[in-house]
Amino acid sequence: MIEIGTKLNATEVIPVAGKYKCIICGLIVDIDQHFIERWSTFFACPICHAWNENWPKWPQDDVWEYLG
Ligand SMILES: [Zn+2]
Repeated sequence: MIEIGTKLNATEVIPVAGKYKCIICGLIVDIDQHFIERWSTFFACPICHAWNENWPKWPQDDVWEYLG
């Protein structure tokens, strides 16, 4: 179980399907079970790109907030 408001970094395993918000730019993504089975972990935000190769200090920092 995961509580609403839980924050996760871009390299963590996605715990459950649902909506997650990028805490950097506010983008909301809706992750379904199919996505989790295929990819299993989070990813860089496609809008602000936190975190990706341009943000090498950030892999451990939280990017995604669980909205439910
Ligand atoms: Zn973002």
